[in-house]
Amino acid sequence: MTANGQPRLRSLDLQGYKTFASKSMFAFAPTITAIVGPNGSGKSNIADAIRWVLGEQSYSLLRGKRTDDMIFSGSEQRARASMASATITFDNSDGWLPIEFSEVTVGRRAYRDGTNEYLINGQRVRLRDVAELLARCGLGERTYTIIGQGLVDAALSLKAEERRRLFEEAAGIGLYRSRREETLRRMDQTQRNLDRVQDILAELRPRLRSLERQARRAQDYEQVRSELNTALRTWYGYHWFRLGDSVFHARREAEREAAQRDALREREEKADRDLVTARASIDSLRAALHRNSQHVSAAYRERESLGRKLAVAEERLRWLGDQIGTLQAELSEADSSQALLQT
Ligand code: ATP
Ligand code: MG
Repeated sequence: MTANGQPRLRSLDLQGYKTFASKSMFAFAPTITAIVGPNGSGKSNIADAIRWVLGEQSYSLLRGKRTDDMIFSGSEQRARASMASATITFDNSDGWLPIEFSEVTVGRRAYRDGTNEYLINGQRVRLRDVAELLARCGLGERTYTIIGQGLVDAALSLKAEERRRLFEEAAGIGLYRSRREETLRRMDQTQRNLDRVQDILAELRPRLRSLERQARRAQDYEQVRSELNTALRTWYGYHWFRLGDSVFHARREAEREAAQRDALREREEKADRDLVTARASIDSLRAALHRNSQHVSAAYRERESLGRKLAVAEERLRWLGDQIGTLQAELSEADSSQALLQT
């Protein structure tokens, strides 16, 4: 990690990865860093973590069988972890990684359901992006970046093909080789697609005439249908306007009749009110008539009683007149008797 003397590996952060249940941070000094510890304490797990975070997909190289084996599986003191995470930090002030940051972090997280996530500078990316980034700066595939326990022996006894791969990768053509393979695979796929198209064409050719006839018919049908549509549109349009007109007239007629009905209703109400007034005045006239006839009969009775009194009084008057005559006669008789006596 120290090409041209510049230290590039800065640190490795682990949490929940294999033996590293707690958050652990390894800062790598500019000089050589050695990690020492008793057997089985987890030294190789650090190397595994570096392979893993750089995108390693072979679990046998990571000394496990599946994603689960990468996650802390618990101890007597500690419950198992649900997630393993590793982050490696590189110094990029000289731009050796093709990315515009002076510090680059590559992260990987794994969950118990087997999902793996990859991050570059904290952004979620595809595994492919990590692989491309590393391949372009020679950190690519597994072979020589990390020489694991016992790998030196293995490297010395590599088969010719495998040794070639090692040299190719060291020379930085691993990326181009994988691109070439990808392109070849795509070309192969395209060739297969082309073959399939040829098959389909061969199948369709004999049916061409009948298909042409059907196409013509379909075109005719489309034409007739569009003409019918136009005609129907005109027809319905005409009816629409006519009906709209009669609706307009009917509505006006209805409004007029409603106005008439309102006027009649008003007259009816007024007549009702007049009727009530007339009934009231009939009642009061009846009462007055009743009172008058009572007065008339009282007056009759009064006249009769006065008539009787008058007759009695006339009778008395006549009697008194008679009395006066008698008395006057007696008086004059007495007068004459007196005169005779005086003489
Ligand atoms: P040696 O000196 O023998 O090479 P080492 O220091 O390299 O040993 P490792 O091989 O890295 O040690 O560590 C292996 C230890 O990690 C074992 O004790 C194993 O039980 C433990 N281990 C591996 N995977 C997990 C896991 N997922 N959860 C908890 N512990 C694990
Ligand atoms: Mg070891």
